[in-house]
Amino acid sequence: MKRIGVLTSGGDAPGMNACLRAVVRMALYNDLEIMGIKRGYAGLIEGKLFPMTMRSVSNIIQRGGTILETARSQEFTTPEGRKMAALKLGEANVEGLIVIGGDGSFRGAHDLSVEWYTPVIGVPATIDNDIYGSDYTIGYDTAVNTALESIDRIRDTAAAHERIFLVEVMGREAGFIALEVGIGGGAEEIIIPEIKTDLPAICKRLTEGKEKGKTSAIVVIAEGDEAGGAFQIAEKIKASIGVDFRVVVLGHIQRGGRPTARDRVLASRLGAAAVKTLTKGEKDRMVGVVNGRLVLTPLTDSWEKKKELDRGLHDLASILAK
Ligand code: ADP
Repeated sequence: MKRIGVLTSGGDAPGMNACLRAVVRMALYNDLEIMGIKRGYAGLIEGKLFPMTMRSVSNIIQRGGTILETARSQEFTTPEGRKMAALKLGEANVEGLIVIGGDGSFRGAHDLSVEWYTPVIGVPATIDNDIYGSDYTIGYDTAVNTALESIDRIRDTAAAHERIFLVEVMGREAGFIALEVGIGGGAEEIIIPEIKTDLPAICKRLTEGKEKGKTSAIVVIAEGDEAGGAFQIAEKIKASIGVDFRVVVLGHIQRGGRPTARDRVLASRLGAAAVKTLTKGEKDRMVGVVNGRLVLTPLTDSWEKKKELDRGLHDLASILAK
């Protein structure tokens, strides 16, 4: 293998740049040429490949977002689109591809690898942490810390005004962010899709908390919970216990910003591992870290199998918030 390519795809996540830096430098260290591809699969189909050097990735380890940019490509979900992508890789003599992204990106990577025998290795990068095969995904730790900082500020004003706040955090269909933010922020209640929401019980506990002298309460809600979004839940609780709520939806604030140390280290390890994995002749796999160790998982497992969150943490949060 003489030349490989790298792209970032799907939702951006803090630490993608640190990962890109590791990919580029580990490739060059191993005497491989490395081509960057702009704007994910959309850029690949348009042939936006360019050679990268050690200096292409200077001063980016601390930056959020991705210097390669990312995009969503409808065309790539079709066989014709992927044919064009394979053609562009062939024209540029790229013999292996590293895809930094989430499960959608991996589905596309798998199709490309099956249809065109392209050796592809995936690196999990999404703030949602909802990918099987790695205990943590790149960007998750930063998103949790960003949300936590907001929760701390909200707690100040909640306590000052004796208010109840409902804070909605990101996570798509998963409660990983909400759970850690809830524990770390000392939330009174955590509402996540993995655990059935018992609103009457929540209302009862909130009322009891007030009676026991609690002056404020924070309820953390994962977006995508079947009980509804933060505004809907606020209306339901208000109708039940007659307390006024403030609702905060943190939204895209959680996507950006400087990656934490943990995300930079994870990104560096996984980026380097992806290059080594390609050079060993592996393909159609994802690199991940499980129990501190680097592991390879078939790309298909990354979305077909479900990563479980620690339900014990939810029980712990409720005991500690008494
Ligand atoms: P993420 O990788 O963060 O989950 P997306 O779901 O938006 O982000 O996926 C990124 C891109 O991957 C899409 O724009 C599309 O080109 C490609 N992709 C997503 N799902 C599939 C699929 N089922 N088959 C083929 N390609 C897909």
